[in-house]
Amino acid sequence: MLALRDFNEDDMKSIMNTIITVVGAGGLGSPALRLLTALGFGKIRIIDRDIVELSNIQRQTIYNTQDIGEPKVEAAVENLKMVNPNVEFEPLCVSIGEENAIDLLRGTDIILDGLDSFKARRAVNRASQILGIPYIFAGAVEYYANLSTFVPGKTGCLNCVMGSAEDNPDNTCAQVGVTPTVLSLAAAVEVNEAIRLAIGHEPILGNRLMTIDSGSLTFDFFDIGKSEECPICSKSEPASAVKTNEITVTQLCSQSYNISPPQIERFDLNNLAQKLRGSYSVKSTERVMIVTVASGERITLMASGSAIIKGVDTAEEAIRLYELILGKNS
Ligand SMILES: [Zn+2]
Repeated sequence: MLALRDFNEDDMKSIMNTIITVVGAGGLGSPALRLLTALGFGKIRIIDRDIVELSNIQRQTIYNTQDIGEPKVEAAVENLKMVNPNVEFEPLCVSIGEENAIDLLRGTDIILDGLDSFKARRAVNRASQILGIPYIFAGAVEYYANLSTFVPGKTGCLNCVMGSAEDNPDNTCAQVGVTPTVLSLAAAVEVNEAIRLAIGHEPILGNRLMTIDSGSLTFDFFDIGKSEECPICSKSEPASAVKTNEITVTQLCSQSYNISPPQIERFDLNNLAQKLRGSYSVKSTERVMIVTVASGERITLMASGSAIIKGVDTAEEAIRLYELILGKNS
């Protein structure tokens, strides 16, 4: 980078001092994370609730076959540390939504979108406005991607562009697929915007929507603006976040559930593991503890309090096992 025209040592220092959060470590998040890590962003928070599956690997380029079944955020950190051990990583295996987006995104300088649902993006967009953090938006499906950069106070927001649009269940990556190449193109554009924001330059995609069609290799730009009617970015007092004290349970693939606590915890896993060793088979490191119970179900608990429960058929059963290892029931 330092050999580049218009890029100096101070710019590199700015990048090394930037905290960036990548929300979603899938098809967009993977190539973006690899670039951000190699570039040397100071701290990278990675938020994703899922586990690695074989079908992910053709486009989710930071994982390999040995990672199958592991929480994506943990596998991502293991693999990215080999790319650049100087980056500080903060893996959070949680489901992001209206109830926790503000807590999860607080303290970061830039938000980079690797999500696959508008419901989650709406929560991120709202938190970006409330916290005043720039949000680099990208969405991709089939051969197409859309991108824009929303800077609170300077540009409109995702809601200005999307209005009341909802997720179309017939048009997801799972249903119609997405090419790995459009994901890499879009992720590179996102990282380009992240570099500009980190070194104090105006983003190229502020008040602009970029579309990519990898089928015809067409790149288009449209001017977009701020809607004065927008309830998210045009109100003087942003609505306060929805708070809940409940844990969130999300079904992942067959017989696997993610459990996200209402707030981020800081568990001492080695200590907890010691207590459980008499009753269960337990493996633990500083960041992850894996407990296998006698009937074969496996609980992967992360220090942040999130867990992935494997081998159960219902959300109730997943919660029961989660509470069991935390000593919350008998
Ligand atoms: Zn708006």
